[in-house]
Amino acid sequence: MSSLFLRTLREDPADAEVPSHRLLVRAGYVRRIAPGIYSWLPLGLRVLRGVEQVVRDEMNAIGAQEIQFPALLPREPYEATNRWTEYGPNLFRLKDRKGGDYLLGPTHEELFALTVKGEFSSYRDYPVILYQIQTKYRDEERPRAGILRGREFLMKDSYSFDLSDEGLERSYQLHRDAYIKIFDRLQLKYVIVSAMSGAMGGSASEEFLAEAETGEDTYVRSTGSGYAANVEAVVTPAPPAESIDDKPAASVHHTPDTPTIDTLVDFFNGLELGRAFTAADTLKNVMLKTRAPGSAEWKPLGVGLPGDREVDMKRLEAALAPDEVALLDDADFAAHSFLPKGYIGPVGLAANGVRYLVDPRVVPGTAWLTGADKPDHHVVDLVCGRDFTPDGTIEAAEVRPGDPSPDGSGTLVAARGIEIGHIFQLGRKYADAFSLDALGQDGKPIRITMGSYGVGVSRLVAAIAEQSYDESGLIWPREVAPADVHVVIAGKSEEIRAGGEKLAAELDAAGVQVLLDDRTATPGVKFADAELIGVPTIVVVGRGLANGVVEVKDRRSGERTEVPVDGAVAHLAELVRER
Ligand code: ATP
Ligand code: MG
Repeated sequence: MSSLFLRTLREDPADAEVPSHRLLVRAGYVRRIAPGIYSWLPLGLRVLRGVEQVVRDEMNAIGAQEIQFPALLPREPYEATNRWTEYGPNLFRLKDRKGGDYLLGPTHEELFALTVKGEFSSYRDYPVILYQIQTKYRDEERPRAGILRGREFLMKDSYSFDLSDEGLERSYQLHRDAYIKIFDRLQLKYVIVSAMSGAMGGSASEEFLAEAETGEDTYVRSTGSGYAANVEAVVTPAPPAESIDDKPAASVHHTPDTPTIDTLVDFFNGLELGRAFTAADTLKNVMLKTRAPGSAEWKPLGVGLPGDREVDMKRLEAALAPDEVALLDDADFAAHSFLPKGYIGPVGLAANGVRYLVDPRVVPGTAWLTGADKPDHHVVDLVCGRDFTPDGTIEAAEVRPGDPSPDGSGTLVAARGIEIGHIFQLGRKYADAFSLDALGQDGKPIRITMGSYGVGVSRLVAAIAEQSYDESGLIWPREVAPADVHVVIAGKSEEIRAGGEKLAAELDAAGVQVLLDDRTATPGVKFADAELIGVPTIVVVGRGLANGVVEVKDRRSGERTEVPVDGAVAHLAELVRER
């Protein structure tokens, strides 16, 4: 370490929000260059390469073939799939000296599809899985937590090409199994959550989330089954439709001074209509606007949901993607004079041609207390399917702990995680865009079906750190640690120094990767740095050497044992092999 390009820091970086960021900077693994853009110093690069190797091993094991694309890409392929536009501000776009449009690749579906089309033509060529471990660029709105969410980051992306849906299912399963092996080898605690609801079906897309309180993804799992899902993917179980015949007629009431759901509920309870109202009996109508990718025009949208729930913007955005969505602002309300803010109801929206989507709990036959489309008035017993007919349902309401699990067993609890991998059955979207066909045995073309699968390689370094540290510093799993053994020379004497150097040389010869602290710093400084850096085994060569022993410390458990210096190499080599 006396010549290692490393300076550890005593102080936490001012901008660090999460432990992994704080520790990776302090321990000298990464350095910030610009928001979301980091350089890797020697120790960091070793960990990154270690993660990369685990990913590469397991991809090769499923027969995937590694290739490498440029990051700098022409516009045309992304134009063909509309992603040049759809990607919006997240895409780094640039021009060359001739004015040609280029981008820095955020993900490479287009290029892989085109490349396979260029090389393969017969059904005999398929299936094939290709991958790369390559730098990606996304102009993230909120780069965050160091390398956890970068604007430049390393991703393993693979793509499968199959002749049939069954083939795609198989390729998907191969990836799922490989990912389980990767994340197990990295000793991560993680969950696999379904990432998509609706048309594609739950198993067509899953995310691997490393459990971490600091994670940006909220997921839910059931207390009664193995169900786990990204909050965006939770499908609200719809209650059965109710009979309309026995519902009283809707009646409009003058409701002054009821600006909130609570005051409205109190007001109606005060009317003594023979039943009690709660916020869940009210239908709250949230006014939004949506805009299709590349379009300049915003269109109004009403979303109706039970008044005891808030809109979850992430769920709403996922439900409406790729369209953009925003709340109506005062100018919008001024421009749509038929919208009496605070008293908007489904009837008025329909009369004015505004699209109206409701929460799945709003089923035919349910009666609601809602806006009556004129100031200071509400209507009670407005019945879905009788008095109003929504244009469809939407998953926009917040999911709450205690909600019934969509699979019918147990209730939901919430937790947070870091997305470390994503597997996705794309189907024929990209093959359609580029007419990617194989010539079948019967001479007819077969449209190829694709899957795409990502692992956040650089993010994994932070995710591992996020799960594995203590108050003194990082604690790496063996598989990716920057060294197998950290040898600390703790003493100024010539014997101690020579003993430490000899041990390091012998370990090295035995194939054990050593980080040798041969600096002139005090033992206290060296111990603190060893803990901070987080190599799983620390060996202290110090005063004990006079008695023929060195101290071996397990970084994770803190356990110390004295080992005879003669047997130290064999002992340590054994520890490393055990993993
Ligand atoms: P997120 O929801 O976190 O933005 P994503 O859905 O955009 O992720 P994918 O496009 O599926 O991610 O990318 C594959 C993997 O790449 C992700 O599972 C994640 O591990 C990693 N990844 C995505 N964006 C970033 C980023 N900005 N920095 C580091 N890793 C990232
Ligand atoms: Mg993203």
